[in-house]
Amino acid sequence: MATPSLADTQSDQLHSIGHFFENANVVSGPEIVDCTLSGGTQTKCFSITVKADPKSYTPGPWCPTSIDDTAEKGGIWLKDGTVHDVDGAFISGLATMYDDEEWQLFDEATGKIRVTDSKAACEAAARPDVDPEFNNYCVQCLPEYMPDDATMTYVIPLEPQRTWRTNPTNASGSGVANNGIRLDGPAPVDDILAAHTIAPFDDCGGHVNPHVGYHYHAVTDCLTGAETATGHASQIGIAMDGYGIFDNLLSDGSGADDLDKCGGHETETLGYHYHAGDAGSNAIVSCLRAEAGCALEDPNQVCDASARPQRP
Ligand SMILES: [Zn+2]
Ligand SMILES: [Zn+2]
Repeated sequence: MATPSLADTQSDQLHSIGHFFENANVVSGPEIVDCTLSGGTQTKCFSITVKADPKSYTPGPWCPTSIDDTAEKGGIWLKDGTVHDVDGAFISGLATMYDDEEWQLFDEATGKIRVTDSKAACEAAARPDVDPEFNNYCVQCLPEYMPDDATMTYVIPLEPQRTWRTNPTNASGSGVANNGIRLDGPAPVDDILAAHTIAPFDDCGGHVNPHVGYHYHAVTDCLTGAETATGHASQIGIAMDGYGIFDNLLSDGSGADDLDKCGGHETETLGYHYHAGDAGSNAIVSCLRAEAGCALEDPNQVCDASARPQRP
């Protein structure tokens, strides 16, 4: 048999990408498009448009409403590599935990926790420069604040284009999970804490912002990937540079001990790929080894990742 043509290879790839996202809330795609990656390389990408709405569970909860609430009423928060339940005791203990008297998220008389309770409040409080009115709030944006037709379009290279330097994940995000939810870059925890706010993630590691909707800052056991034929680990997502993102742990329950600073390594059968960071790490992928594609709010926008401002 003759060597398969490039077009055949791409259509095989597209078929397996479609299969990978079969549990996502897909609006259109995947299809092959022209794209310009973060380093300026013009190449072929796949494009898939999805709703940020997991099929297998309902996102939330995030903020508890009373300092008596148990862990079921709230989500999680990450501090120093550790996952903490955001329950009533967590909220009432913030001043002690962060050794800062200015923390006061609840009414001392009633024990009621101040929670953003409208779209306008969530927008003002979720800005990088938190509106001072929302200092000392538990910040949550609800999925229903998003327009019904909100989608996210991921444009990701079919062939990763390696770079000499590593690339940050805070502009493009880390990637997209097999359920169609954005695997984001690190949450800006320092900015959030500076305003004496907490923006919890739900127990699946996700929360909502008014731009991209529901997205993850941690990979937990809510994401189940398909076991690869090699039995190495299961793949839970695709990184913005086109490499696969696999579970934190290998199939035998151990951690890979040869990961590079981005959280990736090379194996004989899978080539280069990442393993998602530990849930407490606030780094699903710490950096990208190859040029990033685009995560677009407008499905009709052409991907030019080199034109986007790259934050340090
Ligand atoms: Zn976020
Ligand atoms: Zn691996």
